[in-house]
Amino acid sequence: MRAVVMKFGGSSVVDATAIDRVVSIVAGERNRGRAPVVVVSALGGVTDSLLALAERARTGVSHADLENGIAGLRRRHVDEAARLGADRDGTLLPFLDGHFDELQAAMDEIARRRSADPALMDIIAAAGELLSSRLVAAALAVRNFPSVWVDAREVVVTNDSHTCAIPLMDETAAAAVAAIEPLVSDGRIPVLGGFVGRTLEGITTTLGRGGSDYSASLVGAAIHAVEIQIWTDVDGMLTADPRIVDDAEVVRHLSFAEAAELAYFGAKVLHPSTIFPAVSRNIPVRILNSHRPEAQGTLITADPPAAQSHRPFAALACKRGITILDITSTRMLMAHGFLRRVFEAFEVNATAVDVVTTSEVSVSVTIDDPRRLPAIIEALSEFAEVRREDQMAIVCVVGDGLQRDPALAAQVLASVGDVPLRMVSQAASRRNVTIVLRDEDLAKGMGRLHGEFFG
Ligand code: ASP
Ligand code: MG
Repeated sequence: MRAVVMKFGGSSVVDATAIDRVVSIVAGERNRGRAPVVVVSALGGVTDSLLALAERARTGVSHADLENGIAGLRRRHVDEAARLGADRDGTLLPFLDGHFDELQAAMDEIARRRSADPALMDIIAAAGELLSSRLVAAALAVRNFPSVWVDAREVVVTNDSHTCAIPLMDETAAAAVAAIEPLVSDGRIPVLGGFVGRTLEGITTTLGRGGSDYSASLVGAAIHAVEIQIWTDVDGMLTADPRIVDDAEVVRHLSFAEAAELAYFGAKVLHPSTIFPAVSRNIPVRILNSHRPEAQGTLITADPPAAQSHRPFAALACKRGITILDITSTRMLMAHGFLRRVFEAFEVNATAVDVVTTSEVSVSVTIDDPRRLPAIIEALSEFAEVRREDQMAIVCVVGDGLQRDPALAAQVLASVGDVPLRMVSQAASRRNVTIVLRDEDLAKGMGRLHGEFFG
């Protein structure tokens, strides 16, 4: 049994036409003698709409408005189902209806309480994937493929951190094997929603935004898939953000470590957690374009052949809208407790720090979420002088090649030339060189780096 997990993102299942493309891509894989296991996101934009509606319910929109919003989403699903001719056995529409009634009830509950309990939010957020997966399963069935809808909550078992639940690996592996392997052995095509799980007690949870990739990878690892495919609407991971660098190209082959680093640093095509389950079983991950299935895409494996990568680096990643805080100790005598107090200020304010550089008495850090900044600065000001600089950007030059060739780091710095660097860091992984510069210099800096290493 050579199972392949095929995950289709929201833009790949945005409407009936897109879902038809999915059907033929799945059929193609089956014709190659492999057993597809299909994981889907919500129809494009649905999760955003659901969360926006819940927010309006919480802030007191009228009941009629709420009903209208839900009716719009219901219509969209029913219309696409009709276009696909997907309700052949008469069970799809009742399923959709039942689900929308549940959704309405959850929204009403939020409106009544004027507060959005995270468990209720998960019922709302999970609806998108539960609906889309049922729809895609039905679309395959009417085209005579032996599809079976699988409730993702029977597969992914998580802790109870609602809206960003963490999968329980052993329980999920066991549940996924039990739910999916018999279907695959039977020649059937399991179809399930990504992003959604349940607690040990059976309460619905979600894995955090973009979490469907993660679901696909968890399932792939559990059933020992031969490949995990992430179908999206771009040709793969790119050497740089094409909005910033105009000659960015698709990266053909990356290592797991490089892909994880890039995903973490903002390459939106892949959810950062996706790689870990794949690594644990050494399963190749492929990023593919459902609008251009013939394109090669990006392959991610443990060890890309060094010979084919004539480039020293895999890709550049960047993050904009960054704030730097320069924190200088005002009480030198406390130097041994300084770092602890600095990071405590971020911890109590639940704000993640990205890049850190230090000298004897000062620390510079970057954050990308400034919401708690006033409180953080107030806490730091008790023992340090704080200088804040907004509109900065992080550029991360990623590649396993850095471990082989120590001179590369110097080349990175040399190639940005006269662009002022605010921070520079090379982490212990020696897989990236990270620089922080002014956002206004980003295009220039990235352009030079790209020209030097990817030109
Ligand atoms: N639909 C969810 C989201 O938009 C999960 C996913 O698509 O990966 O975040
Ligand atoms: Mg995604």
